[in-house]
Amino acid sequence: MLGLMMEKPLLVGSLLEHAERFHPEQQVVSRLSNGGVVYHRYKELARRTRQLANTLLALGVKPGDRVATLAWNTHRHLELYYACAGIGAVCHTLNPRLHTDQLSYIIEHAEDTLLFFDIDLSPLVAKLAGARAGLMRWVALGTEAETAKAMLEGCLAYEELLSAQSDELVWPELDERAACSLCYTSGTTGNPKGVLYSHRSTVLHALVSALPDCAALSAHSVVMPVVPMFHVNAWGMPYAALLTGAKLVMPGNGLDGASLYKLMLMEKVTLALGVPTIWQSVLNYLDERQLKLDDLREVFIGGAALDKTLLQRFEAMGVTVLQAWGMTELSPIGVVNRPLPDSGRLGAKHFEQEKLKQGRGIWGVDLRLVNDNGQALNWDGTSAGHLHVRGHWVAGQYFKQAESACTTDGWFATGDIAHIDHRGFLKLTDRSKDVIKSGGEWISSLELELAAQSHAAVAQAAVIGIPDAKWSERPLLILTLKSGCEIDLGSIREHLQNHVPSWWLPDRLEVIEQMPLGATGKVHKQSLRERFN
Ligand code: AMP
Repeated sequence: MLGLMMEKPLLVGSLLEHAERFHPEQQVVSRLSNGGVVYHRYKELARRTRQLANTLLALGVKPGDRVATLAWNTHRHLELYYACAGIGAVCHTLNPRLHTDQLSYIIEHAEDTLLFFDIDLSPLVAKLAGARAGLMRWVALGTEAETAKAMLEGCLAYEELLSAQSDELVWPELDERAACSLCYTSGTTGNPKGVLYSHRSTVLHALVSALPDCAALSAHSVVMPVVPMFHVNAWGMPYAALLTGAKLVMPGNGLDGASLYKLMLMEKVTLALGVPTIWQSVLNYLDERQLKLDDLREVFIGGAALDKTLLQRFEAMGVTVLQAWGMTELSPIGVVNRPLPDSGRLGAKHFEQEKLKQGRGIWGVDLRLVNDNGQALNWDGTSAGHLHVRGHWVAGQYFKQAESACTTDGWFATGDIAHIDHRGFLKLTDRSKDVIKSGGEWISSLELELAAQSHAAVAQAAVIGIPDAKWSERPLLILTLKSGCEIDLGSIREHLQNHVPSWWLPDRLEVIEQMPLGATGKVHKQSLRERFN
Protein backbone atom coordinates (compact mmCIF):
# COMPACT_ATOMS: atom_id res chain seq x y z
CA MET A 1 0.00 0.00 0.00
CA LEU A 2 1.37 3.42 -0.93
CA GLY A 3 1.37 6.32 1.49
CA LEU A 4 -1.05 9.11 0.81
CA MET A 5 1.13 12.14 1.39
CA MET A 6 1.67 14.89 -1.16
CA GLU A 7 4.54 14.50 -3.55
CA LYS A 8 6.36 17.77 -3.88
CA PRO A 9 9.58 17.73 -5.87
CA LEU A 10 12.74 18.67 -3.96
CA LEU A 11 13.86 21.78 -5.86
CA VAL A 12 16.79 24.11 -5.28
CA GLY A 13 14.52 27.11 -5.96
CA SER A 14 12.49 26.26 -2.86
CA LEU A 15 15.50 27.21 -0.70
CA LEU A 16 15.54 30.72 -2.13
CA GLU A 17 11.75 31.04 -1.81
CA HIS A 18 12.00 29.98 1.83
CA ALA A 19 14.80 32.46 2.56
CA GLU A 20 12.88 35.29 0.88
CA ARG A 21 9.68 34.55 2.80
CA PHE A 22 10.99 33.69 6.24
CA HIS A 23 14.40 35.41 6.42
CA PRO A 24 13.91 38.42 4.12
CA GLU A 25 16.14 40.72 6.19
CA GLN A 26 19.01 38.25 6.60
CA GLN A 27 22.17 39.34 4.85
CA VAL A 28 24.54 38.09 2.20
CA VAL A 29 27.79 40.00 2.57
CA SER A 30 30.22 40.00 -0.36
CA ARG A 31 33.75 41.23 -0.64
CA LEU A 32 34.21 42.28 -4.25
CA SER A 33 37.43 42.07 -6.23
CA ASN A 34 38.03 45.82 -5.77
CA GLY A 35 38.11 45.23 -1.99
CA GLY A 36 34.72 46.87 -1.38
CA VAL A 37 32.13 45.06 0.75
CA VAL A 38 28.48 45.04 -0.31
CA TYR A 39 25.37 43.90 1.56
CA HIS A 40 22.24 42.31 0.14
CA ARG A 41 19.28 40.96 2.04
CA TYR A 42 17.74 37.64 1.05
CA LYS A 43 14.69 39.52 -0.27
CA GLU A 44 16.97 41.53 -2.59
CA LEU A 45 18.87 38.42 -3.58
CA ALA A 46 15.59 36.75 -4.56
CA ARG A 47 14.50 39.80 -6.54
CA ARG A 48 17.83 40.03 -8.37
CA THR A 49 17.79 36.28 -9.03
CA ARG A 50 14.43 36.62 -10.79
CA GLN A 51 15.87 39.46 -12.89
CA LEU A 52 18.83 37.25 -13.72
CA ALA A 53 16.56 34.33 -14.61
CA ASN A 54 14.62 36.63 -16.96
CA THR A 55 17.98 37.71 -18.44
CA LEU A 56 19.00 34.10 -19.04
CA LEU A 57 15.66 33.39 -20.71
CA ALA A 58 16.04 36.52 -22.87
CA LEU A 59 19.51 35.33 -23.88
CA GLY A 60 17.95 32.09 -25.07
CA VAL A 61 19.01 29.73 -22.27
CA LYS A 62 16.90 26.58 -22.39
CA PRO A 63 16.37 23.83 -19.79
CA GLY A 64 19.45 21.64 -19.62
CA ASP A 65 21.79 24.28 -21.12
CA ARG A 66 25.09 24.69 -19.31
CA VAL A 67 25.88 28.20 -18.11
CA ALA A 68 29.50 28.58 -17.05
CA THR A 69 30.89 30.71 -14.25
CA LEU A 70 34.48 31.73 -13.65
CA ALA A 71 33.94 33.57 -10.42
CA TRP A 72 34.77 33.98 -6.74
CA ASN A 73 32.37 33.66 -3.83
CA THR A 74 30.02 36.65 -4.06
CA HIS A 75 26.28 37.39 -4.10
CA ARG A 76 26.41 37.47 -7.91
CA HIS A 77 27.75 33.94 -8.08
CA LEU A 78 24.98 32.94 -5.67
CA GLU A 79 22.39 34.56 -7.95
CA LEU A 80 23.79 32.52 -10.82
CA TYR A 81 23.45 29.31 -8.81
CA TYR A 82 19.77 29.97 -8.14
CA ALA A 83 18.76 31.57 -11.45
CA CYS A 84 20.25 28.73 -13.54
CA ALA A 85 18.73 26.03 -11.34
CA GLY A 86 15.39 27.85 -11.14
CA ILE A 87 14.85 27.81 -14.91
CA GLY A 88 16.06 24.24 -15.29
CA ALA A 89 19.49 25.19 -16.65
CA VAL A 90 22.79 23.97 -15.21
CA CYS A 91 25.26 26.22 -13.43
CA HIS A 92 28.68 25.00 -14.47
CA THR A 93 31.38 26.30 -12.13
CA LEU A 94 34.88 26.55 -13.59
CA ASN A 95 38.01 26.61 -11.46
CA PRO A 96 40.15 29.62 -12.46
CA ARG A 97 43.24 27.89 -11.04
CA LEU A 98 43.15 25.20 -13.71
CA HIS A 99 45.48 25.37 -16.68
CA THR A 100 43.90 27.09 -19.70
CA ASP A 101 44.18 23.87 -21.76
CA GLN A 102 42.14 22.04 -19.13
CA LEU A 103 39.61 24.87 -18.92
CA SER A 104 39.22 24.91 -22.72
CA TYR A 105 38.73 21.15 -22.68
CA ILE A 106 36.07 21.41 -19.94
CA ILE A 107 34.22 24.26 -21.68
CA GLU A 108 34.14 22.29 -24.95
CA HIS A 109 33.11 19.11 -23.19
CA ALA A 110 30.29 20.79 -21.27
CA GLU A 111 29.20 22.74 -24.40
CA ASP A 112 28.75 25.89 -22.35
CA THR A 113 26.70 28.58 -24.06
CA LEU A 114 27.31 31.55 -21.79
CA LEU A 115 30.17 32.36 -19.46
CA PHE A 116 29.87 34.78 -16.53
CA PHE A 117 33.20 35.94 -15.10
CA ASP A 118 34.59 38.20 -12.41
CA ILE A 119 36.32 41.18 -13.97
CA ASP A 120 39.68 40.53 -12.27
CA LEU A 121 39.75 37.18 -14.11
CA SER A 122 39.56 38.87 -17.52
CA PRO A 123 43.22 38.07 -18.43
CA LEU A 124 42.29 34.40 -18.08
CA VAL A 125 39.08 34.92 -20.05
CA ALA A 126 41.12 36.53 -22.85
CA LYS A 127 43.11 33.29 -23.12
CA LEU A 128 39.88 31.30 -23.32
CA ALA A 129 38.20 33.62 -25.82
CA GLY A 130 38.69 31.11 -28.64
CA ALA A 131 36.75 28.42 -26.80
CA ARG A 132 33.51 27.46 -28.54
CA ALA A 133 34.05 30.22 -31.08
CA GLY A 134 30.80 31.73 -32.29
CA LEU A 135 28.74 29.69 -29.84
CA MET A 136 29.61 31.39 -26.57
CA ARG A 137 28.64 34.73 -25.07
CA TRP A 138 30.58 36.38 -22.27
CA VAL A 139 29.16 38.36 -19.37
CA ALA A 140 31.36 40.40 -17.01
CA LEU A 141 30.13 40.39 -13.42
CA GLY A 142 29.98 44.14 -12.90
CA THR A 143 28.54 47.35 -14.28
CA GLU A 144 29.03 48.67 -17.80
CA ALA A 145 31.40 51.32 -16.44
CA GLU A 146 33.57 48.67 -14.75
CA THR A 147 33.52 46.52 -17.88
CA ALA A 148 34.54 49.49 -20.07
CA LYS A 149 37.28 50.47 -17.61
CA ALA A 150 38.69 46.97 -17.81
CA MET A 151 38.55 47.33 -21.62
CA LEU A 152 36.53 44.20 -22.10
CA GLU A 153 35.22 44.58 -25.59
CA GLY A 154 32.27 42.59 -26.80
CA CYS A 155 31.26 41.55 -23.29
CA LEU A 156 27.86 42.05 -21.80
CA ALA A 157 27.69 43.77 -18.39
CA TYR A 158 25.86 41.87 -15.65
CA GLU A 159 24.30 44.77 -13.76
CA GLU A 160 22.87 46.42 -16.89
CA LEU A 161 21.45 43.10 -18.08
CA LEU A 162 19.70 42.65 -14.74
CA SER A 163 18.30 46.14 -14.48
CA ALA A 164 16.76 45.82 -17.95
CA GLN A 165 14.64 42.88 -16.74
CA SER A 166 11.50 42.54 -14.67
CA ASP A 167 11.83 41.05 -11.20
CA GLU A 168 8.64 39.07 -11.69
CA LEU A 169 8.75 35.47 -12.74
CA VAL A 170 6.78 32.32 -12.12
CA TRP A 171 9.38 29.60 -11.70
CA PRO A 172 8.69 26.53 -13.85
CA GLU A 173 7.71 23.19 -12.28
CA LEU A 174 10.76 20.97 -12.61
CA ASP A 175 11.50 17.32 -12.13
CA GLU A 176 13.52 16.92 -8.93
CA ARG A 177 15.90 14.63 -10.85
CA ALA A 178 16.76 17.47 -13.27
CA ALA A 179 20.37 18.63 -13.25
CA CYS A 180 21.07 21.93 -11.47
CA SER A 181 24.86 22.23 -11.35
CA LEU A 182 27.99 20.75 -12.83
CA CYS A 183 31.51 20.57 -11.42
CA TYR A 184 34.48 18.82 -13.00
CA THR A 185 36.85 16.84 -10.82
CA SER A 186 40.37 18.13 -10.58
CA GLY A 187 41.83 14.71 -11.44
CA THR A 188 45.63 14.70 -11.69
CA THR A 189 45.63 12.04 -14.38
CA GLY A 190 43.45 11.88 -17.48
CA ASN A 191 40.85 14.43 -18.42
CA PRO A 192 38.66 16.01 -15.74
CA LYS A 193 35.26 14.33 -15.36
CA GLY A 194 31.96 16.15 -14.89
CA VAL A 195 29.83 15.51 -11.82
CA LEU A 196 26.26 16.53 -12.58
CA TYR A 197 24.26 17.28 -9.43
CA SER A 198 20.47 17.07 -9.40
CA HIS A 199 17.94 19.25 -7.56
CA ARG A 200 17.06 16.29 -5.38
CA SER A 201 20.65 15.39 -4.47
CA THR A 202 21.46 19.03 -3.75
CA VAL A 203 18.46 19.64 -1.48
CA LEU A 204 18.99 16.41 0.46
CA HIS A 205 22.68 17.24 0.89
CA ALA A 206 21.75 20.74 2.13
CA LEU A 207 19.28 19.32 4.64
CA VAL A 208 21.76 16.89 6.12
CA SER A 209 24.72 19.28 6.07
CA ALA A 210 22.73 21.73 8.21
CA LEU A 211 22.05 19.17 10.98
CA PRO A 212 23.48 19.71 14.48
CA ASP A 213 26.03 16.91 14.11
CA CYS A 214 27.15 18.31 10.77
CA ALA A 215 27.58 22.08 10.21
CA ALA A 216 24.85 22.90 12.80
CA LEU A 217 23.36 25.85 10.93
CA SER A 218 20.51 28.07 12.03
CA ALA A 219 19.28 31.62 11.52
CA HIS A 220 21.73 32.56 14.31
CA SER A 221 24.75 31.34 12.34
CA VAL A 222 27.09 33.59 10.41
CA VAL A 223 28.71 31.33 7.84
CA MET A 224 31.74 32.08 5.73
CA PRO A 225 32.55 29.53 3.03
CA VAL A 226 36.19 30.24 2.24
CA VAL A 227 36.09 27.12 0.11
CA PRO A 228 35.31 28.43 -3.37
CA MET A 229 31.95 28.10 -5.08
CA PHE A 230 33.86 26.40 -7.92
CA HIS A 231 35.09 23.66 -5.57
CA VAL A 232 32.10 21.34 -5.09
CA ASN A 233 29.60 24.16 -4.67
CA ALA A 234 31.46 25.64 -1.67
CA TRP A 235 30.70 22.38 0.14
CA GLY A 236 26.97 23.04 -0.23
CA MET A 237 26.88 26.12 2.02
CA PRO A 238 25.18 28.34 -0.59
CA TYR A 239 22.21 25.97 -0.29
CA ALA A 240 22.31 25.12 3.43
CA ALA A 241 22.55 28.81 4.45
CA LEU A 242 19.35 29.72 2.61
CA LEU A 243 17.61 26.61 3.94
CA THR A 244 18.28 27.73 7.51
CA GLY A 245 18.30 31.51 7.12
CA ALA A 246 21.94 31.79 8.18
CA LYS A 247 23.85 34.96 7.35
CA LEU A 248 26.26 34.27 4.49
CA VAL A 249 29.64 36.00 4.27
CA MET A 250 31.37 35.68 0.90
CA PRO A 251 35.09 36.50 0.84
CA GLY A 252 35.47 37.01 -2.95
CA ASN A 253 39.09 36.76 -4.02
CA GLY A 254 40.40 38.02 -0.66
CA LEU A 255 41.76 34.68 0.50
CA ASP A 256 44.88 35.90 2.30
CA GLY A 257 45.12 35.97 6.10
CA ALA A 258 44.64 39.75 6.40
CA SER A 259 41.52 39.97 4.20
CA LEU A 260 39.88 36.94 5.79
CA TYR A 261 40.61 38.19 9.32
CA LYS A 262 39.17 41.63 8.55
CA LEU A 263 35.97 40.24 7.07
CA MET A 264 35.48 37.64 9.80
CA LEU A 265 35.93 40.27 12.49
CA MET A 266 33.69 42.84 10.82
CA GLU A 267 30.84 40.41 10.11
CA LYS A 268 31.16 38.41 13.35
CA VAL A 269 31.56 35.09 11.54
CA THR A 270 30.66 32.10 13.76
CA LEU A 271 31.45 29.25 11.35
CA ALA A 272 34.06 29.26 8.58
CA LEU A 273 34.83 26.48 6.13
CA GLY A 274 37.99 25.78 4.17
CA VAL A 275 41.00 23.59 3.41
CA PRO A 276 43.87 23.35 5.97
CA THR A 277 46.28 25.63 4.04
CA ILE A 278 43.82 28.53 4.29
CA TRP A 279 43.64 28.18 8.07
CA GLN A 280 47.40 28.03 8.43
CA SER A 281 47.69 31.43 6.79
CA VAL A 282 44.85 32.89 8.90
CA LEU A 283 46.38 31.57 12.14
CA ASN A 284 49.86 32.84 11.20
CA TYR A 285 48.37 36.27 10.58
CA LEU A 286 46.60 36.23 13.97
CA ASP A 287 49.63 34.94 15.88
CA GLU A 288 52.08 37.42 14.39
CA ARG A 289 49.83 40.29 15.52
CA GLN A 290 48.44 38.71 18.68
CA LEU A 291 44.89 39.03 17.37
CA LYS A 292 41.78 37.00 18.22
CA LEU A 293 38.43 36.27 16.62
CA ASP A 294 35.99 36.32 19.52
CA ASP A 295 32.88 35.43 17.54
CA LEU A 296 34.37 32.48 15.70
CA ARG A 297 33.04 29.31 17.33
CA GLU A 298 33.72 26.58 14.77
CA VAL A 299 35.86 25.88 11.73
CA PHE A 300 34.95 23.16 9.29
CA ILE A 301 38.04 21.67 7.69
CA GLY A 302 38.19 19.25 4.79
CA GLY A 303 39.68 18.58 1.39
CA ALA A 304 42.98 17.46 2.98
CA ALA A 305 43.89 15.96 6.33
CA LEU A 306 43.75 18.03 9.51
CA ASP A 307 47.07 17.95 11.35
CA LYS A 308 47.54 18.04 15.09
CA THR A 309 49.17 21.46 15.20
CA LEU A 310 46.26 23.07 13.39
CA LEU A 311 43.79 21.40 15.74
CA GLN A 312 45.73 22.52 18.81
CA ARG A 313 46.18 26.09 17.56
CA PHE A 314 42.43 26.50 17.04
CA GLU A 315 41.57 24.83 20.34
CA ALA A 316 43.94 27.21 22.14
CA MET A 317 41.76 30.03 20.72
CA GLY A 318 38.60 28.34 22.00
CA VAL A 319 37.48 27.40 18.47
CA THR A 320 36.01 23.94 17.83
CA VAL A 321 37.48 22.16 14.80
CA LEU A 322 35.26 19.87 12.75
CA GLN A 323 37.00 17.73 10.22
CA ALA A 324 35.04 16.32 7.29
CA TRP A 325 35.89 14.04 4.42
CA GLY A 326 34.25 14.25 1.06
CA MET A 327 34.82 14.63 -2.63
CA THR A 328 33.39 16.26 -5.74
CA GLU A 329 31.51 13.03 -6.49
CA LEU A 330 29.80 13.28 -3.07
CA SER A 331 28.45 16.86 -3.29
CA PRO A 332 30.85 16.72 -1.19
CA ILE A 333 30.09 15.60 2.38
CA GLY A 334 30.73 11.94 3.26
CA VAL A 335 31.74 11.85 6.92
CA VAL A 336 31.95 14.52 9.62
CA ASN A 337 33.80 14.52 12.91
CA ARG A 338 31.62 15.58 15.85
CA PRO A 339 32.38 14.01 19.23
CA LEU A 340 30.00 11.38 20.61
CA PRO A 341 28.47 11.90 24.08
CA ASP A 342 31.15 9.67 25.61
CA SER A 343 34.11 10.96 23.59
CA GLY A 344 35.24 13.19 26.46
CA ARG A 345 35.59 10.13 28.68
CA LEU A 346 38.23 8.61 26.38
CA GLY A 347 40.98 10.60 28.10
CA ALA A 348 42.74 13.59 26.55
CA LYS A 349 45.14 11.63 24.32
CA HIS A 350 42.52 9.28 22.85
CA PHE A 351 40.01 12.09 22.48
CA GLU A 352 42.57 14.03 20.46
CA GLN A 353 43.32 10.97 18.32
CA GLU A 354 39.59 10.61 17.67
CA LYS A 355 39.28 14.28 16.68
CA LEU A 356 42.07 13.79 14.13
CA LYS A 357 40.04 11.13 12.32
CA GLN A 358 38.03 12.28 9.31
CA GLY A 359 34.70 11.56 11.00
CA ARG A 360 31.61 9.39 11.29
CA GLY A 361 29.02 8.52 8.70
CA ILE A 362 26.04 10.79 8.24
CA TRP A 363 22.55 9.73 7.24
CA GLY A 364 22.33 9.41 3.48
CA VAL A 365 25.79 7.99 2.74
CA ASP A 366 26.59 4.28 3.23
CA LEU A 367 30.24 3.31 3.70
CA ARG A 368 32.12 0.06 3.20
CA LEU A 369 35.75 -1.04 3.18
CA VAL A 370 37.04 -3.80 0.91
CA ASN A 371 40.43 -5.40 0.37
CA ASP A 372 42.18 -5.83 -3.01
CA ASN A 373 40.01 -8.92 -3.66
CA GLY A 374 36.77 -7.05 -3.00
CA GLN A 375 36.13 -8.75 0.36
CA ALA A 376 34.50 -6.61 3.06
CA LEU A 377 36.77 -5.61 5.94
CA ASN A 378 35.84 -5.29 9.60
CA TRP A 379 35.42 -1.94 11.27
CA ASP A 380 38.16 -2.56 13.86
CA GLY A 381 40.12 0.67 13.55
CA THR A 382 43.12 -1.02 11.94
CA SER A 383 42.07 -2.98 8.83
CA ALA A 384 42.66 -0.48 6.04
CA GLY A 385 41.03 -0.98 2.66
CA HIS A 386 39.41 0.67 -0.33
CA LEU A 387 36.61 3.02 0.71
CA HIS A 388 33.34 2.60 -1.19
CA VAL A 389 30.26 4.77 -0.77
CA ARG A 390 26.70 4.96 -2.03
CA GLY A 391 23.86 7.29 -1.27
CA HIS A 392 21.49 10.08 -2.19
CA TRP A 393 24.18 12.58 -3.21
CA VAL A 394 26.82 10.26 -4.65
CA ALA A 395 27.58 10.35 -8.40
CA GLY A 396 26.31 7.29 -10.27
CA GLN A 397 27.71 8.28 -13.65
CA TYR A 398 29.93 11.04 -15.02
CA PHE A 399 28.57 13.63 -17.43
CA LYS A 400 28.53 12.33 -21.02
CA GLN A 401 30.03 8.97 -20.07
CA ALA A 402 27.89 6.06 -21.15
CA GLU A 403 29.13 3.65 -18.49
CA SER A 404 28.26 3.73 -14.80
CA ALA A 405 30.77 5.19 -12.33
CA CYS A 406 29.94 2.37 -9.88
CA THR A 407 31.07 -1.16 -9.11
CA THR A 408 28.89 -3.96 -10.47
CA ASP A 409 27.12 -4.11 -7.10
CA GLY A 410 26.34 -0.39 -7.10
CA TRP A 411 29.01 1.30 -4.96
CA PHE A 412 31.24 4.23 -5.87
CA ALA A 413 34.93 3.42 -5.34
CA THR A 414 36.36 6.63 -3.91
CA GLY A 415 40.02 5.85 -4.61
CA ASP A 416 40.74 6.52 -0.93
CA ILE A 417 42.17 4.03 1.55
CA ALA A 418 40.75 4.14 5.08
CA HIS A 419 39.97 2.19 8.21
CA ILE A 420 36.90 2.61 10.39
CA ASP A 421 36.77 1.90 14.13
CA HIS A 422 34.00 0.20 16.08
CA ARG A 423 32.59 3.61 17.00
CA GLY A 424 32.17 4.42 13.29
CA PHE A 425 35.04 6.93 13.04
CA LEU A 426 36.73 6.76 9.66
CA LYS A 427 40.44 7.45 9.34
CA LEU A 428 41.79 8.10 5.89
CA THR A 429 45.23 6.62 5.43
CA ASP A 430 45.89 7.37 1.76
CA ARG A 431 44.76 7.81 -1.80
CA SER A 432 45.02 4.40 -3.46
CA LYS A 433 47.34 5.88 -6.09
CA ASP A 434 49.59 7.42 -3.40
CA VAL A 435 49.85 4.48 -1.05
CA ILE A 436 53.37 3.04 -0.89
CA LYS A 437 53.68 -0.73 -1.15
CA SER A 438 56.89 -1.74 0.58
CA GLY A 439 57.71 -5.43 0.95
CA GLY A 440 54.07 -6.26 0.29
CA GLU A 441 52.80 -4.00 3.14
CA TRP A 442 51.17 -0.58 2.87
CA ILE A 443 52.86 2.56 4.11
CA SER A 444 50.48 5.48 4.56
CA SER A 445 51.92 8.55 2.82
CA LEU A 446 49.30 10.66 4.62
CA GLU A 447 50.35 9.57 8.11
CA LEU A 448 54.02 10.11 7.30
CA GLU A 449 53.22 13.59 5.99
CA LEU A 450 51.24 14.50 9.10
CA ALA A 451 54.03 13.22 11.32
CA ALA A 452 56.66 15.20 9.38
CA GLN A 453 54.50 18.32 9.52
CA SER A 454 54.49 18.19 13.29
CA HIS A 455 58.27 18.92 13.28
CA ALA A 456 58.90 22.55 14.25
CA ALA A 457 61.09 23.26 11.19
CA VAL A 458 58.67 21.86 8.61
CA ALA A 459 56.25 24.02 6.63
CA GLN A 460 54.82 21.39 4.24
CA ALA A 461 55.51 17.72 3.71
CA ALA A 462 54.79 15.30 0.88
CA VAL A 463 55.67 11.63 0.61
CA ILE A 464 55.87 9.67 -2.63
CA GLY A 465 56.89 6.09 -3.38
CA ILE A 466 60.09 5.56 -5.35
CA PRO A 467 61.07 2.23 -6.93
CA ASP A 468 63.34 0.02 -4.83
CA ALA A 469 65.02 -3.20 -6.00
CA LYS A 470 64.55 -5.00 -2.70
CA TRP A 471 61.27 -3.65 -1.29
CA SER A 472 59.63 -2.69 -4.65
CA GLU A 473 58.84 0.79 -3.25
CA ARG A 474 60.23 2.98 -0.48
CA PRO A 475 59.00 6.37 0.76
CA LEU A 476 60.74 9.56 -0.31
CA LEU A 477 60.08 12.53 1.97
CA ILE A 478 59.89 15.95 0.36
CA LEU A 479 59.77 19.04 2.59
CA THR A 480 59.53 22.79 2.47
CA LEU A 481 60.88 24.46 5.59
CA LYS A 482 59.84 27.43 7.70
CA SER A 483 62.03 30.46 7.05
CA GLY A 484 65.47 30.29 8.64
CA CYS A 485 65.11 26.57 9.52
CA GLU A 486 67.28 23.64 8.50
CA ILE A 487 66.83 19.90 8.71
CA ASP A 488 68.66 16.71 7.73
CA LEU A 489 67.56 13.13 7.16
CA GLY A 490 68.84 11.98 10.56
CA SER A 491 66.91 14.54 12.60
CA ILE A 492 63.62 14.09 10.71
CA ARG A 493 63.92 10.29 11.04
CA GLU A 494 64.46 10.72 14.77
CA HIS A 495 61.30 12.82 14.97
CA LEU A 496 59.28 10.44 12.80
CA GLN A 497 60.16 7.34 14.76
CA ASN A 498 58.03 8.62 17.65
CA HIS A 499 55.01 8.61 15.35
CA VAL A 500 55.25 5.77 12.81
CA PRO A 501 56.61 2.20 12.61
CA SER A 502 60.37 2.09 12.02
CA TRP A 503 60.07 0.33 8.63
CA TRP A 504 58.09 3.35 7.35
CA LEU A 505 61.00 5.74 7.96
CA PRO A 506 62.13 7.36 4.68
CA ASP A 507 65.69 6.66 3.55
CA ARG A 508 65.81 9.74 1.38
CA LEU A 509 64.91 13.39 1.98
CA GLU A 510 64.57 16.25 -0.50
CA VAL A 511 64.13 19.83 0.69
CA ILE A 512 62.56 22.08 -1.92
CA GLU A 513 61.75 25.79 -2.10
CA GLN A 514 58.09 25.53 -2.99
CA MET A 515 55.58 22.71 -2.88
CA PRO A 516 53.76 22.30 -6.23
CA LEU A 517 50.03 22.76 -5.63
CA GLY A 518 47.13 21.66 -7.83
CA ALA A 519 44.07 23.70 -8.72
CA THR A 520 42.27 23.05 -5.44
CA GLY A 521 45.27 23.89 -3.27
CA LYS A 522 46.39 20.30 -2.66
CA VAL A 523 49.97 19.08 -3.17
CA HIS A 524 50.40 17.99 -6.79
CA LYS A 525 52.17 14.66 -6.28
CA GLN A 526 52.32 13.88 -9.97
CA SER A 527 54.80 16.70 -10.58
CA LEU A 528 56.86 15.52 -7.57
CA ARG A 529 56.93 12.00 -9.05
CA GLU A 530 58.06 13.38 -12.40
CA ARG A 531 60.78 15.41 -10.69
CA PHE A 532 62.18 12.83 -8.30
CA ASN A 533 61.53 9.42 -9.81
P1 AMP B 1 37.99 16.77 -4.39
O1 AMP B 1 37.09 15.96 -5.21
O2 AMP B 1 38.89 17.68 -5.17
O3 AMP B 1 37.26 17.51 -3.33
O4 AMP B 1 39.00 15.78 -3.66
C1 AMP B 1 38.53 14.72 -2.89
C2 AMP B 1 39.67 14.02 -2.23
O5 AMP B 1 40.29 14.87 -1.25
C3 AMP B 1 39.25 12.81 -1.42
O6 AMP B 1 39.05 11.69 -2.22
C4 AMP B 1 40.40 12.67 -0.45
O7 AMP B 1 41.50 11.99 -1.04
C5 AMP B 1 40.80 14.10 -0.18
N1 AMP B 1 40.18 14.57 1.08
C6 AMP B 1 39.00 15.17 1.26
N2 AMP B 1 38.78 15.43 2.57
C7 AMP B 1 39.86 14.96 3.24
C8 AMP B 1 40.24 14.92 4.61
N3 AMP B 1 39.49 15.43 5.59
N4 AMP B 1 41.41 14.32 4.92
C9 AMP B 1 42.21 13.80 3.96
N5 AMP B 1 41.91 13.83 2.65
C10 AMP B 1 40.75 14.40 2.29
